[in-house]
Amino acid sequence: MAPQRDWYTTDYYKVLGVSETATDKELRRAYRKLAKQYHPDSNPGSEDRFKAVSAAYDVLGDADKRKEYDEVRRLGPLSNLGGFGGGGGAGNSNFNFRIDDLSDIFGGLFGRGRQGGAGRGAPGTGPRRGRDLEAELHLTFEEAVEGAVTTVNVSSGTRCATCGGSGSRPGSSPVTCPRCGGLGVLNDNQGMFSLSSPCPECQGRGTKVVDPCPTCNGTGLEQRQRQVKVRIPAGVEDGQRIRVKGRGEPGANGGPAGDLFVIVHVAPHPLFGRKGRNLTLTVPITYPEATLGSAITVPSLNEPVTLKIPAGTKQGRTFRVKGHGITTGSSAGDLLVTVDAVVPAHLTEEQRKAVEALAKTLDASPRQHLGV
Ligand SMILES: [Zn+2]
Ligand SMILES: [Zn+2]
Repeated sequence: MAPQRDWYTTDYYKVLGVSETATDKELRRAYRKLAKQYHPDSNPGSEDRFKAVSAAYDVLGDADKRKEYDEVRRLGPLSNLGGFGGGGGAGNSNFNFRIDDLSDIFGGLFGRGRQGGAGRGAPGTGPRRGRDLEAELHLTFEEAVEGAVTTVNVSSGTRCATCGGSGSRPGSSPVTCPRCGGLGVLNDNQGMFSLSSPCPECQGRGTKVVDPCPTCNGTGLEQRQRQVKVRIPAGVEDGQRIRVKGRGEPGANGGPAGDLFVIVHVAPHPLFGRKGRNLTLTVPITYPEATLGSAITVPSLNEPVTLKIPAGTKQGRTFRVKGHGITTGSSAGDLLVTVDAVVPAHLTEEQRKAVEALAKTLDASPRQHLGV
């Protein structure tokens, strides 16, 4: 069940005239009394009050809904706004909240993206897991095949030490954003609360820096470079993401660190290609080698290997040299050698005669089956 818009704008406890700690029994009693009082049959003209009372009891009278409603009230509007919305006011106090609080509310309600542990108070004060970070790593073909221990540079924004993250020069303070009045959002009141958009003037902060901090230029963040040692397993492929647990951004308030994702770029090899654990290699052979058969020497990653080409080998045939591929864990891939029969572009007079002599001996055309 999704929180309703009214949950953010209506104090159901006030509507029923009970305290927030009211028991189920007290709620029921209050509801019955008010429902009777405002029932349209006995009291014409009080339909709105009757509906409001029914709506309030619909939520508060249901233990699950009441729990979510309480959470919405606790998380949403009242915190983080520095003097706005904190009044709690009369029956229809307008709860304003920031966009990022919204995701927090829904994250909490729906059990996903939940940050930190139990006992959450206002957003931002509980344990919070650090963000995941990404870093790129360029490897040679051989490093990717054999695995490597290396370091990656990780850049992340951390709270500026000079201004403590406020963005203002020490000694000065940010002022309330004139455009949104400090709310951080501009409300487009056309019904759904989701039409609120972050204030472009203050980027949703609600405040504006007038005298920027010289270290971070008012952003409140400092880019810090650090080096993280990573072990790259043998056999990684281009584009693969490797997760380094706990090496992302540090957590806040005792929360765990995020993870670091290393995106691996593998340089191509001048000779070999890759298909998973197998290496691929294309080698040219001559027409006589393909026709008569031969033993040819081909490179592998370690040492040259001899490959037997049987007589009558077709152009484009692939041979498997077992165990000369990429070793990952306990299993090794193979070297796949594809032969490419070379057609000479130029012939000597002697070669031409030899080929012509060969042609005369080939009595059947290989294209007979085409019927032309
Ligand atoms: Zn603003
Ligand atoms: Zn700063």
